Amino acid sequence: MGKVLQIGAGGVGTVVAHKMAHLPEIFSEITLASRTKAKCDAVAAAIGGGRIQTAQVDADNVDELIALINKVKPDLVVNVALPYQDLTIMDACLATGVSYLDTANYEPKDVAHFEYSWQWAYKEHFEKAGLTAILGCGFDPGVSGVFTAYAAKHHFDEIHYLDIVDCNAGNHHKAFATNFNPEINIREITQKGRYYKDGKWIQTGALEIHKALTYPNIGPRDSYLMYHEELESLVKNFPTIKQARFWMTFGQEYLTHLRVIQDIGMARIDEVDYNGVKIVPLQFLKAVLPNPQDLGANYEGETSIGCRIRGIKDGKERTYYIYNNCSHQEAYKETGMQAVSYTTGVPAALGAEMFMKGIWKKPGVWNVEDFDPDPFLARLGEQGLPWVEQFDIDLEL
Ligand code: NDP
Repeated sequence: MGKVLQIGAGGVGTVVAHKMAHLPEIFSEITLASRTKAKCDAVAAAIGGGRIQTAQVDADNVDELIALINKVKPDLVVNVALPYQDLTIMDACLATGVSYLDTANYEPKDVAHFEYSWQWAYKEHFEKAGLTAILGCGFDPGVSGVFTAYAAKHHFDEIHYLDIVDCNAGNHHKAFATNFNPEINIREITQKGRYYKDGKWIQTGALEIHKALTYPNIGPRDSYLMYHEELESLVKNFPTIKQARFWMTFGQEYLTHLRVIQDIGMARIDEVDYNGVKIVPLQFLKAVLPNPQDLGANYEGETSIGCRIRGIKDGKERTYYIYNNCSHQEAYKETGMQAVSYTTGVPAALGAEMFMKGIWKKPGVWNVEDFDPDPFLARLGEQGLPWVEQFDIDLEL
């Protein structure tokens, strides 16, 4: 049992707060802080039960964070703000002697660059301070790493090929909207593709490689190869991997809008001068796009995210598919958020639970696959994300 300080009250944050508030025997006190306190108050009121205290904080400001952490005195800070804030929050955790969990790797604001080096550089500091940092504890990254660790522990002597497949077959009835923070989402999708093969990283054009993959209960969907941050930690932690790739589905309508957004310069992340005011086009675009938190009510269909793995067990080749399907409507009924926020928020709250129970707790900076996957997966279904395993099937990859 312990106290938690959650930073970030967006789509993901709403789900995390929801899940933690329903576990009073694990999270004795919850403080929800964000840049806009009114959003925290609204989340706390919607959850009810007087379980959640709220606070205002600018998480870009280490001193403000330190003051808040010293006031709240949590055992763990759960960071579900934006990737830009990872390092300031980690700095504040070190300064105050508090452990840390997040769902996305640090990104500098001025360059869309995805790698763990900045956060891994804190490893020794967290070790020396006796503090735990759990990185990337959403669905992907997050459950994708836990699934891989589970496969390695129980079903393979060596994993050789790993394909993480992420399908959103939902329909929100908007011409164009992103499923989580639009700025972060568009930065991720418009970057060049990259995958790991035989010890090297191979670069591709953005969304250049694609093929139809069949998703359970959904059917075939065009899936695009893109870089995703968990590939970096997984190939390091499972060195028998020869090839690791990440695939995500996109509809033609989405891709057409994305191309136009890029072609007209609205995906730019550098500052432009507009009537004497400096604006970043992508940040301005975020302000006019639908808010991902408002998509839930009309969202139909489901997501399907999993790992398709080929490797060796007892000298024989084996294939394995482990996945979760999540319904947008079910997620909405429970938390008021759609399945993309739900599939991220549930694992973040569960990672926090693993920490509070002392199961995922060791000094240093860790990715989720560094911990025992069994207790996490034993709870994942109970917490709303049941998972399915299939053996020796055609992986299509
Ligand atoms: P939202 O934009 O909906 O929410 C972000 C929240 O962080 C808002 O409450 C926002 O406050 C707050 N915030 C932003 N900047 C600051 C700041 N400087 N100080 C304090 N609070 C701040 O994003 P999502 O909920 O969609 O995403 C949250 C995180 O989850 C992101 O890091 C995203 O990358 C990650 N994610 C991870 C996934 C995974 O599977 N691993 C999948 C999807 C998302 P305000 O409202 O005032 O702007």
